[in-house]
Amino acid sequence: MERILVSACLVGRPVRFDGRAKTLDDTLLARWRAEGRLVAFCPEVEGGLPVPRPPAEIEGGAGGAAVLSGVARVLTPDGADVTRHFLAGARSALDVARSTGIKLAVLKEGSPSCGSLRIHDGAFRGRVTPGAGVTAALLEAHGIRVFGEDRLAEAAACLDDLESATA
Ligand code: SF4
Repeated sequence: MERILVSACLVGRPVRFDGRAKTLDDTLLARWRAEGRLVAFCPEVEGGLPVPRPPAEIEGGAGGAAVLSGVARVLTPDGADVTRHFLAGARSALDVARSTGIKLAVLKEGSPSCGSLRIHDGAFRGRVTPGAGVTAALLEAHGIRVFGEDRLAEAAACLDDLESATA
């Protein structure tokens, strides 16, 4: 059975920077959970950051790949550099995916860790820009398909393809 890495905040865990969850009420997610497919993970907590914590954005809205290659940092509004925590969390997510054979992830869109198509622009003014977060970028660089919670139908199609390939 194919398993799915999922942002912990989407399945009810209060791990966001503001100490809350972002629980997603969706029949597909509920089915995958009932099937025992979901592996909940929060890269920022696993990377050593507390709950709650200051918000963080990638400087310049540069995207996770730029952080992974060392040309951009992840900063809080007061300029604290939390890059190492984001990198540690991303590597930990990849370790979990590899050790469990996971090829598919459903991650919270817009997050500097979990965003797959959108992140914030680095100016802490609530604006988004195209790009991936640090964890999503690392997973995708290693062939793991990542979908935001607003693309569950695509994730389901990907899951079908993966299961067909291994049937
Ligand atoms: Fe949710 Fe990902 Fe942020 Fe953790 S890092 S709170 S899993 S969006």
